[in-house]
Amino acid sequence: DASRGAETEQMVKKNNLHTHERLLKPLSGFSGLSGEMKELAAIISGDIYLHNPNVRWEDIIGLEDAKRLVKEAVVYPIKYPQLFTGILSPWKGLLLYGPPGTGKTLLAKAVATECRTTFFNISASSIVSKWRGDSEKLVRVLFELARYHAPSTIFLDELESVMGQRGTSLGGEHEGSRRMKTELLVQMDGLSRSEDLVFVLAASNLPWELDHAMLRRLEKRILVGLPSSPARQAMISHWLPPLSSTGGMELRTSLDYKMLQMEGYSGSDIRLVCKEAAMTLVRTVFDSLESHQECSDITAIQLGALTTADFVEVIAHTKPSARSLMDRYTAFEREYESV
Ligand code: ADP
Repeated sequence: DASRGAETEQMVKKNNLHTHERLLKPLSGFSGLSGEMKELAAIISGDIYLHNPNVRWEDIIGLEDAKRLVKEAVVYPIKYPQLFTGILSPWKGLLLYGPPGTGKTLLAKAVATECRTTFFNISASSIVSKWRGDSEKLVRVLFELARYHAPSTIFLDELESVMGQRGTSLGGEHEGSRRMKTELLVQMDGLSRSEDLVFVLAASNLPWELDHAMLRRLEKRILVGLPSSPARQAMISHWLPPLSSTGGMELRTSLDYKMLQMEGYSGSDIRLVCKEAAMTLVRTVFDSLESHQECSDITAIQLGALTTADFVEVIAHTKPSARSLMDRYTAFEREYESV
């Protein structure tokens, strides 16, 4: 049947991905590093390098403009390098900004998956908190590794937490974090001068807090906004299709997707609501499971279908997380738009 077919297709896709996966070059060829730097390189390869992000463009719902812009800026230069020379030299720094949970990380992962670039995933706040004094060195080694494994994408999440405007943080800046910022700027300059296919994709929920020196180096700035009405409907029907299953138990829904507006909710909010709604169905079986031990065959249990009214009830109890900042994102877009 159709769902079985789709499942097989997914599996074949996954396997293909597996056999075509890029193997990392051994670090032994990574010369000119002292013992300490080698250690950092090993840590980066272990913790920060992501083996296979496995996100396809079609996994990202909506965001057509953002997808197109990211493809133009990063994907095509990798695929058709001969076209991107002279005035069209590739953009090395991209800023994805917008409310949390809207697909910024997914976009970065899709670039890495679809272009089969080496993907380094760094949450900026973790560099500072974990590495403190060493964070500057870590940044240097990270960029060296990215060049060594090129084509590479470096995804810097929560950029504002390290690249806030200087001197604005409470109680002055930690010396180590100031040096790290400088190193990041130096490395970005190095990228823009070189031919290496290394791209920095930075994400921020609070772009107006970013240091201007950093903003200037992120030449493309792309708003990843809250999902549109059709995108929200597509998300709900993706996560709660008319028929799905969990643990062999059938989950049926009869939702009038058009009735479920959910304006102001982000993709991750909507996912949470869908999960909560599915849980209201599953919750009903726990009582009978717990009281009748003999009825342990879960697959034999028939659940009722989730209705639009059930879903609306769940929405009422789960508020969107980011609506209030939307005006600031559009104001920032007006001032700093660069697509
Ligand atoms: P952020 O913008 O904060 O980086 P993420 O990309 O990490 O957000 O999204 C968080 C989760 O929300 C994703 O793993 C996915 O499940 C869901 N999600 C958010 N936006 C979308 C989208 N446009 N398409 C599909 N899933 C989405």
